Amino acid sequence: VLKVEKTNEGNLLTVSLTGSIEETTDLAKVIGDVPGELNVLCKGIGRINSVGVKGWIKYFQGLRSQGKKLRFQQCSTAIVEQINLISNFTERDEVESILVPFLCDDCGTELVGAFRTTDLKKIGFQIPDLKCSKCGSKASFDDIAEEYFHFLQDV
Ligand SMILES: [Zn+2]
Repeated sequence: VLKVEKTNEGNLLTVSLTGSIEETTDLAKVIGDVPGELNVLCKGIGRINSVGVKGWIKYFQGLRSQGKKLRFQQCSTAIVEQINLISNFTERDEVESILVPFLCDDCGTELVGAFRTTDLKKIGFQIPDLKCSKCGSKASFDDIAEEYFHFLQDV
């Protein structure tokens, strides 16, 4: 099930999506009328299956062909995985920020940090450590930079 929260500011609609995207998900119905610009907050999307991916691509391609400006923000790890796998899942310039996975070196707690894609490029994908919210120890980036940030690398 996919839940949505919407905020409207003039020509900009922001939708925050939470849940999973699968065969029963109707993005057009969930999101509704889109003005000129659409911000999609993706941090709550835990899962997207292959049928969900097809529906996603079709829906957002449709909006692009109508000239809508799309921005994807705080993309969850599940969404980043698809962005890396499928070239037309999002357009290159549309991904504004993503969530990055961290693992505490001491207590093993999994954390996420939000990073703007422009900042990630600036720091050359050298991800600084976080402070673990549970034990205060050092939490370090828990993926492979070449893979997780693949979609941001110049080709
Ligand atoms: Zn910890």
